Amino acid sequence: MHYQNTYVNLDPRLYHKQPPTALESPRAGHFNTQVAEQLGWADDDDLMARWVDIVGGQYVPSQFEPLAMAYAGHQFGQWAGQLGDGRGLLVAQVLDHNNQLQDLHLKGSGLTPYSRMGDGRAVLRSTIREYLCGHALTQLDIPSSNALGFVVSDTPVRRERMEAGAALMRVADSHIRLGHIEWIASFAPDLLGEFTDYMIDTYYPKSRDSEAPVLAFLQAVVERTARMIADWQLIGFAHGVMNTDNLSITGSTLDFGPFGFMERFNPAWINNHSDHTGRYTYQNQPAIGHWNLNVWLPHFMRLEGVTRDALSDCLAPYEPTFMQHYQQGLCRKLGLPHQKESLSLAFEWLTLLEDNLLDYTNSFRALLGLISPENYPYEKQLLATLTHELQGEALQVWQDWSARYLAHVQALSIEQVVTDMQTTNPVYVLRNSMAQRAITAAKQGQFEEVSRLYELLASPYTVQDIATALDSTPPAPNAPQMPIS
Ligand code: AMP
Ligand code: MG
Ligand code: MG
Repeated sequence: MHYQNTYVNLDPRLYHKQPPTALESPRAGHFNTQVAEQLGWADDDDLMARWVDIVGGQYVPSQFEPLAMAYAGHQFGQWAGQLGDGRGLLVAQVLDHNNQLQDLHLKGSGLTPYSRMGDGRAVLRSTIREYLCGHALTQLDIPSSNALGFVVSDTPVRRERMEAGAALMRVADSHIRLGHIEWIASFAPDLLGEFTDYMIDTYYPKSRDSEAPVLAFLQAVVERTARMIADWQLIGFAHGVMNTDNLSITGSTLDFGPFGFMERFNPAWINNHSDHTGRYTYQNQPAIGHWNLNVWLPHFMRLEGVTRDALSDCLAPYEPTFMQHYQQGLCRKLGLPHQKESLSLAFEWLTLLEDNLLDYTNSFRALLGLISPENYPYEKQLLATLTHELQGEALQVWQDWSARYLAHVQALSIEQVVTDMQTTNPVYVLRNSMAQRAITAAKQGQFEEVSRLYELLASPYTVQDIATALDSTPPAPNAPQMPIS
């Protein structure tokens, strides 16, 4: 691997250098060979042979320089002060095969000076959810952390009950969160200039070409965040804990907790059982992204030449960037050109899904079965399921809408339509029931289901016969959707 550990050269107040605390008898959960190739990990025999010991914290390769990063954050809209990283270590930074810098971050690696009341550990259940979700989003082409692999162990960890300690080797283009800047502003404000230079040079070097590099950098963070959230909305992803400490400065999805992919479409669904007010519902995500950036940006007024007005100008592109990306994506999901009529059709369609609690993923995919039933037998089946669930007036609304939709489609190049639809409407997303099945088996020491889901989610746009019936089935129409802990 091409190591490029640079965070460790920053001011030592920003982190605490320490090795991981070993887990007891770590055992392989799953290893992501694709990520290993990408990182160059696969080219190193020692790393390959000892990956379980490395992720289990039993062995630290000589080129690793593990450290816990200090950061703060706003949780559920409230300033929470210092809060992370109480259970993860940045162990190395490497240049991957695309010459892109990647952080290797060990999550669940034991106590750090920042652990507060926590135990520094992660449990198997949440580790598997994070592992599979990072993979799923990455394969859906949504900027996200991913992981090299995870292990389970005999180390007991107390949650609501006793569970097995696990650890995940997370890989992300950065682990710097909005909360890092909040930490600096509170606890080491003299470091803000140096740290901002580091972020620009490392992650936003093009901003250096601007007359005002700091402002160009901030605007780029705003735009990347807006695009990431538009991607979430399009795929039906609800992050669940959009605190400022869980948002990366690179606009990559980070920290998977109680996330959910929308099944029966209810934009107000609360998927986090500690989100009592519904702050982080699917439908609130775009506004919360704006809220987070709005509390974050003023810290930069400490820097020379950064005024409140200039920061407003940096934030202003948030909404248009989001809208452009979301509306364009929504039209593509219907195979339509990005224009006004397409958008009104799209919004009528979303209303139909919401009014009838139809499955978000399968309903979009089913439209291929409407357009070209002979070429899309699986989608034709999805369409039959969809229409079967509609009765009375809802059925009439559907018939009227689908006739108008087909008329639009028939005026276009059919190849282009189906290509757009096939590449934006997945067959498989990580439904909670899928993750749960893999977790239940893993708790018995069986990881075949994790492997099977890993393969399935590696090609999310392709119908895979064997698994189809089991995996793309939404919950029953009247089943209550439980929040995830
Ligand atoms: P989260 O809401 O999961 O993003 O957690 C917020 C912060 O709490 C994280 O950044 C961690 O540093 C810390 N934390 C969460 N769980 C633990 C734990 N089991 N032990 C120590 N710190 C933890
Ligand atoms: Mg220190
Ligand atoms: Mg977090």
